[in-house]
Amino acid sequence: MKTFNDPKKLQRWAKAQRLAGRKIALVPTMGALHEGHLSLIAAAKKKGADEIVVSVFVNPTQFGPKEDYAQYPRDHKADAAKCRAAGATAIFFPTPANMYASDHSVWVVEDGALSGSLCGARRPGHFRGVCTVVAKLFNLAHPNFAVFGQKDYQQATIIRRMVRDLNFDLEIVVAPIVREPSGLARSSRNAYLSDDERAHALALSRTLQALKAQAAKGARPWKALQKKAWAALEKAGLRPDYVEAVNAETLAPVKTLAKGTAVLLAAYAGKTRLIDNVLM
Ligand code: AMP
Repeated sequence: MKTFNDPKKLQRWAKAQRLAGRKIALVPTMGALHEGHLSLIAAAKKKGADEIVVSVFVNPTQFGPKEDYAQYPRDHKADAAKCRAAGATAIFFPTPANMYASDHSVWVVEDGALSGSLCGARRPGHFRGVCTVVAKLFNLAHPNFAVFGQKDYQQATIIRRMVRDLNFDLEIVVAPIVREPSGLARSSRNAYLSDDERAHALALSRTLQALKAQAAKGARPWKALQKKAWAALEKAGLRPDYVEAVNAETLAPVKTLAKGTAVLLAAYAGKTRLIDNVLM
C-alpha cells in the first residue's frame, strides 16, 4: 500500500494510473476508521477498482468554531493498518497546511436547496467545507468512482448533486449503514460515549425502526409520528436536535410517511451529537 502526504504526489500518481487504464476508487474519510469505513473499501473492491485510495483528513473547514475539531480522534498508524488489511492500495494523509493555502479563497457552495435544512441548518458552513474538500480530493485522486456511506445521508445527496451540477467525471456509490449488533450506527464519534450514553444512543436506531414498521403498514401522517419519535428520544435520555421525514432525493419535507421517504434524525447523547437515518 502506498502512502501519500503531498497532494501533488498523489495527483501525479493518480494521473499515471488513469493513463495506464487503471480504475481508481476514492474513499474519503476523517479517519479513526471502523467497520463502516471498511465496508466502503469492500464496496470499492466489489465494483472492480484496480486502485483504492482512502483519504484520511480531519477537514478543519467543515467544523464549526464550537465543534469537536481539536478532540476528533486521530490514529494514523491504526488507520493505515486497517486500510492495508481491507485491501486499500493507497492512503492519503494530508495536513491542513498542504490542503489549504493560507489565502485559500475559492469554495464550493450548495445554494441551500439541499444544504439549508437538517444538519446544514444546524451546522452553518459545514457543507461548504465538505463540498470544497471533496472537490479537491476528486481533483487529486482522479477517481472513476467515489464511495460514500448512507450514514451521512444529506452529505451523500449533496455530493451527488455537486457531481451532477459541476460535471465531475466520476460516479458516486452510496453504501448502506453498518451498525453494531445493538443497532447503533458505527461512527468515529461513538468513541466519545460513556457506557450510559451508549445505552441511551440505542434509541436512535430503535426509533427509526419503529417508524419504518409504521410506514410498512401504509402511509401515515408525519406530524403525529414525529412528535412520538421526539418523545421516545427524550425518554431514552437523549436531546433530540431534529427528526425529519423528507423526500429521499430532493430532501424536501413530506407530510406523510410512505415509500420513498427518508427519515433523518440527530440527537445529543451528553455532549456527543449522533446522526442516523432510514429509508422507507
Ligand atoms: P467520516 O470519517 O465520518 O467522515 O466518514 C467517512 C465516510 O464513511 C462517509 O462517506 C460516511 O458516510 C461513511 N461512514 C461513516 N460511518 C458509516 C457507517 N456506520 N456505515 C457506512 N458508512 C459509514
